[in-house]
Amino acid sequence: MQNLHTHCLLCDGRDSPEEMAAAALEMGFDSIGFSSHSYTAFDLEPCLKDEDEYRKRILRLKASYLGRLRIYLGLEQDLFSPIPRPGLDYLIGSVHYVLRDKEYIPVDNTPELLSDGVRRLFSCDLEEFVLEYYRLVGSVREVTGCDIVGHFDLITKFERACPELSKTDSLGSVEEEKRRAIKRLASQDAVFEVNTGAMARGYKDCPYPSFSSLEYIRSLNGRVTISSDCHDKRYLDYGFREAAGLIREAGFDCFYELRPEFSDADRRFVKIHLY
Ligand SMILES: [Zn+2]
Ligand SMILES: [Zn+2]
Repeated sequence: MQNLHTHCLLCDGRDSPEEMAAAALEMGFDSIGFSSHSYTAFDLEPCLKDEDEYRKRILRLKASYLGRLRIYLGLEQDLFSPIPRPGLDYLIGSVHYVLRDKEYIPVDNTPELLSDGVRRLFSCDLEEFVLEYYRLVGSVREVTGCDIVGHFDLITKFERACPELSKTDSLGSVEEEKRRAIKRLASQDAVFEVNTGAMARGYKDCPYPSFSSLEYIRSLNGRVTISSDCHDKRYLDYGFREAAGLIREAGFDCFYELRPEFSDADRRFVKIHLY
């Protein structure tokens, strides 16, 4: 078992990296990656306050668990963040904002901030906002060079609080833009994350990406991996079984785990068969 999408208390998670590693070992994980949020210049307060300290602490932890648990140092690289400094094991590429008129509208912060941005900067045109989100997601591998595409359809997070979002998400134009993004990413050999984070936090009852997107990824021979976007050590393996079931139902016979110690494409992702 592997989970490469985790947040500890050095960014916006609840537990220390040490507590998370201990929990991962106890739950039977053989590897865990830390993926704190990258720096974005427009955030009033950076999520990851001290990146040097973060890097040092994870590397120390990695050394102390040698032979027991593989620990990796990563970042969840936002589309609008500067290129990261070298020394990281891997990157998850994520879109958390839609840019319009030099303003960054957060997609997953609160339903109020999202609605306010759509009203002010998109003249209430939710469809155009969602289309712009998927255009940005389609570019995330080219822009960030990420190994893994984070929460492909994060824009659906607040569907319960904002039912207009789910109506928009099923529009033909949006479906078409989603497919365009998936096609572009799959053609670049991106690995899509099946992310159970919003389930663990009660926002959704299924992972990102949606089942129809998973089926489309499968039809293009795209690759997937499983993570829980974990902010709380109790949820390190949250929904993994369900996610594996969904992947199988969507037609996949395997998912992938990352081996960041290898740089060549063939060995960097290891196939895990679904039974
Ligand atoms: Zn994220
Ligand atoms: Zn995350």
